[in-house]
Amino acid sequence: MASLGTLYVVSAPSGAGKSSLIKAYLADHGDNASVSVSHTTRAPRPGEENGVHYHFVNHAEFEKLIAQDAFFEWAEVFGNYYGTSKAAIQQQLEQGLDVFLDIDWQGARQVKKLQPNAKTIFIAPPSQAELLSRLQKRGQDSDEVIAKRMQEAQSEISHYDEFDFIVVNDDFAQALADLTAILRAQRCTQQKQAKKHQALFSDLLA
Ligand code: GDP
Ligand code: ADP
Ligand code: 5GP
Repeated sequence: MASLGTLYVVSAPSGAGKSSLIKAYLADHGDNASVSVSHTTRAPRPGEENGVHYHFVNHAEFEKLIAQDAFFEWAEVFGNYYGTSKAAIQQQLEQGLDVFLDIDWQGARQVKKLQPNAKTIFIAPPSQAELLSRLQKRGQDSDEVIAKRMQEAQSEISHYDEFDFIVVNDDFAQALADLTAILRAQRCTQQKQAKKHQALFSDLLA
């Protein structure tokens, strides 16, 4: 899949701020980037819309999609299925958009295997205490779910050394600037620029 767009896998322990960072990035760069909408079997949180935050499906529907080979990658996270459908990314990449996958470390590994050109970014919280506080302040999950997510955070964080880039989300503006720099630099690589500016180089070398 040689395209102008790049596939970015963004992983983080839940609550580190990856959804917020992606949302803020897209608010400024929505014309050349998009986020892939995953399928999940978890229940929608208040305010989450089907087809916008996730495609919400039941277990049977998810398993049917697995059988149909509809997924680019899928994984079981917190006892629910999550997956990126092929349809969710192909069209955007072909249009030259950068595509974010907001997925866990298992998904990051699968994507890197399937698509070695993909770039992986790990978002780290500034401390354990701050991670807990953000999960509590988000006010979307029960105490029990929060405790489970704090436990899972350890396993997610233990994979930090498998990623191409790391952004520490302490000051939000700083973290957003780092994320922006990563995408901007990637657009300037020889491979992408040569493709984008074929006519220019023909002209310069004429
Ligand atoms: P996920 O499903 O666990 O990946 O997370 P969500 O997408 O459900 O949560 C996103 C939340 O972050 C929204 O409520 C945003 O309003 C909030 N948010 C965005 N930027 C900031 C910021 O700079 N500071 C704080 N405190 N919250 C923010
Ligand atoms: P994730 O998508 O990684 O689960 P969210 O983007 O939902 O995380 O962020 C978790 C909570 O932390 C949200 O309530 C968000 O508003 C808050 N948050 C995100 N980044 C920061 C930051 N740099 N400083 C303070 N709070 C933040
Ligand atoms: P949440 O329920 O907070 O929205 O997401 C829980 C976890 O599932 C997060 O770590 C998130 O990155 C991961 N996740 C969301 N969508 C996908 C997906 O399509 N594939 C994989 N592998 N993980 C996903």
